[in-house]
Order: sequence, then C-alpha cells, then structure tokens
Amino acid sequence: MPEFDLIARIHARAATRRDVLLGIGDDAAILRVPPDRDLVVAMDTLNSGVHFPEDTAPADIGWKALAVNLSDLAAMAATPAWCTLSLSLPQPDAAWVDGFLDGFLALATQHEVALVGGDTTRGPLSICVTAHGLVDPRGALRRKGARVGDDVWVTGTLGDAAGALRQWQAGGAFDPALRARLDRPTPRVAAGRALAGIAGACIDVSDGLLADLGHVCRASRVGAVLDVDALPASDALRCAFDRETVRVLQSAGGDDYELCFTAPKTARLALESALFACDVPATRIGRITAEAVVIQLHDADGAAWSPPRRGYEHFGS
Ligand code: ADP
Ligand code: MG
Repeated sequence: MPEFDLIARIHARAATRRDVLLGIGDDAAILRVPPDRDLVVAMDTLNSGVHFPEDTAPADIGWKALAVNLSDLAAMAATPAWCTLSLSLPQPDAAWVDGFLDGFLALATQHEVALVGGDTTRGPLSICVTAHGLVDPRGALRRKGARVGDDVWVTGTLGDAAGALRQWQAGGAFDPALRARLDRPTPRVAAGRALAGIAGACIDVSDGLLADLGHVCRASRVGAVLDVDALPASDALRCAFDRETVRVLQSAGGDDYELCFTAPKTARLALESALFACDVPATRIGRITAEAVVIQLHDADGAAWSPPRRGYEHFGS
C-alpha cells in the first residue's frame, strides 16, 4: 500500500474543529488561535522497544502516543486543541494503521483534539506527535514556581506502569490493571486546568517522581522532603510487590503521567475543591525546602530512605 493510501485512511477518520481553517490535505495546516490565548506546543516520540514493549497492541500505541503529549499540555494548564502525527513504519501496513487510529482517535475525541497533519515514512517503528493547546496567558503553570514551605502534591497513583513493565520483563504472570496503566495512561488535562491560579509549579511524571520533581527543584532553585510512605499506591501495586519494591517503583519508576505540583499551605482547601470538581484524587507527599536541588525521603517513622536509582534516562548511564 503506497504512502498516500495510508494518508487517505488517516484523513478519512480524523475529525476536525471550527478553528481548523485547513487540515490534512495541503502542504500545511492553518489554525486559528483566539486573540486572548497563548499557544502551547509539546512534542514526544515513542520508539518501539524503548517507550513501549514490542508486543503492545497498535491501538494502545496510538492511545499512548497522544496521551504522553496531552499530559505535557496538562502540566502547563493548557487545553489541548490540535495535533500532528509523524509515523515511521517498517511496512505500509493498513491494518496496523487502522488499529493505531482506534486508540489515537479515541483519546483525541475524548479531548476534542483535531489531527491536522503529519508525515508518513518508511523506517523502524516510531511515532512522533506534536500537541498544540491553548492557555490563558496568566494561567500557564511552569516548573519554576515552587517556593520554600509549599506542599508537594501528586495526582492519582504512582508506580503502576513501572510495575507492569517489571512484570513484563520478568516474563511471568502480569496484572491487567497495572498493564492498562502502562498502555493507556490518563492525561490529567482537567486537573491541570483546575490547578491554574492555585498551584505554583507543575510537571507531569514521565521519567519517575524523583527525576521529575528534581526538574521542578532545579528550575525553582529549591529542594524537597518527601514521605515515601505517603506516595499514593493502587491496591494492584501493593498486591503485586513487596513494600520496598513498591517504594522504588513509585519514586523512580516512571511512565505515570500523573501531575506533580506545588502549592502554598494556604491553598489546601481551594486545591482540594478544585480537584474534587474534576474528580481527580490528589495526595500531599511532602514539602519544598530551601536546600537547592536536594530531595530527601523518609518513611512513615521518620527514617531516611533512598532508592537504588532515581529515574529513567534515555541513553543515560
Ligand atoms: P508534503 O509532501 O507536502 O509534506 P505529504 O504527502 O507528506 O505532503 O502529506 C500530505 C498531507 O497529509 C499533509 O496535509 C500532511 O500533513 C498529511 N499527512 C501525512 N501524513 C500524515 C499522518 N501520519 N497523519 C496525519 N496527516 C498526515
Ligand atoms: Mg511530507
């Protein structure tokens, strides 16, 4: 199947929106940004065997390729609007593309995101998505907004995806609830928007809590102290692993796509009601300290704890 037939399949299924003046089919798309909004752009690539196990279903790959990008927009408090899709495929496989679109477009529909263009090439399986969102110029959340004394919060639960990956690598039985968190992460778009004007700093947890909170601390020139036993864990994770492994998966695992954010103590009530309104649970896990870029962890008894490694770095040592 030639490349343009694949593009035609994609074009036939991609929804549009009123602010897409020109979508798939020309040399480029034309999009209308409202005068009172700033444009927020994120890009993330998924490579087979690096960002998802080789046996991942095409629909799950499609979902995840968009989800990781919407998660970046969520962390900025932006509302997703448009996306582009670069597909590198070993063969022009129409069935694979159809499956991929099932997942990709299901999530796009959920968030009213229009696929407005892309590129289709032959090569090792790799998917690159850019997501474009809109934000109130005063409302965008950045990494640099954490202040000494702020609470540190995280949405949802941590460690599920890393737990699924560990089970997959071990080749034995795996828990479908954990695997679903690896394959179909939930971008916290509504929560990100609800945090605008309340949170100081925000980041999405993709490389592991400590690595990503480290980025917030570096940008804000602060440190943090966390209670490792306060980190929110799913029942599935607690059932599948011993306590020490749960701690490691939660603090250094990655692929969570939850939001980690900071806010002053005085914002606790406002935060809880804003997140309650969008039905997203959040847990207070620690506080911001003055000791720049030092993240300390302790357990529920106050004893110091540290993980064997602090997060996933591509091509890192
Ligand atoms: P050009 O050679 O001008 O770059 P292409 O043949 O690559 O054009 O693409 C034709 C149209 O199809 C463009 O609008 C492009 O954005 C769109 N397109 C190509 N690949 C994809 C894709 N994977 N997903 C969505 N749109 C695509
Ligand atoms: Mg092209």
